Amino acid sequence: MDTGIKIIHNIKGFLSEDEGQTLYEYARIVSRSGPCLEIGSYCGKSAFYLGTACRETGNVLFSIDHHHGSEEQQPGEAYFDPAVFDCQPFCIDTFPYFRRTLARAGLENTVVPLVCRSELAARAWNTPLGLVFIDGGHSYPAVKMDYDVWHKHILPGGYLLIHDIFQDSVQGGQAPYDVYRQAVSSGNFKEEPMVGTLGILRKIAGM
Ligand code: MG
Repeated sequence: MDTGIKIIHNIKGFLSEDEGQTLYEYARIVSRSGPCLEIGSYCGKSAFYLGTACRETGNVLFSIDHHHGSEEQQPGEAYFDPAVFDCQPFCIDTFPYFRRTLARAGLENTVVPLVCRSELAARAWNTPLGLVFIDGGHSYPAVKMDYDVWHKHILPGGYLLIHDIFQDSVQGGQAPYDVYRQAVSSGNFKEEPMVGTLGILRKIAGM
């Protein structure tokens, strides 16, 4: 993907260029079979990569985020960014940044923003998905919930991608890695080589 380099450098986020490029490449293949879905839009960095791929194949990306920030992004926490803090309702609000990214990247006719919690969006979900990317809240209950409610919607041959996989607890929180191991143990997914901290699992069976 050689377009949008200027855009991507101006989007806040925690995804490396290698990881983003990998999201793009997998989405470009699987979005021919089914739409893609991500949990954790934040300011639109991963939506830029996934959405660009979906635009090329004529499919859509569903992007879920309540836009009030995950636990580690709240005031006083390690990933708090005062730029996205709104003093009036006294909360994080990343939705304006996300919308701006979609407009600048020309993705408003490709990305479907779902501004709510992941489990609410899943409650009446019935559409098979080519790819699910989990990068929402990083506590164990949050990652586990995202996995539990979404993995069953991935088509056989589709992909489950999980960000922030740290095999060594010194490098980062273990919740995404714990859930990644559970997915492997289920027998429904096959591991592919990681890229940075991006875990890549191919759905081989099960619903
Ligand atoms: Mg992440």
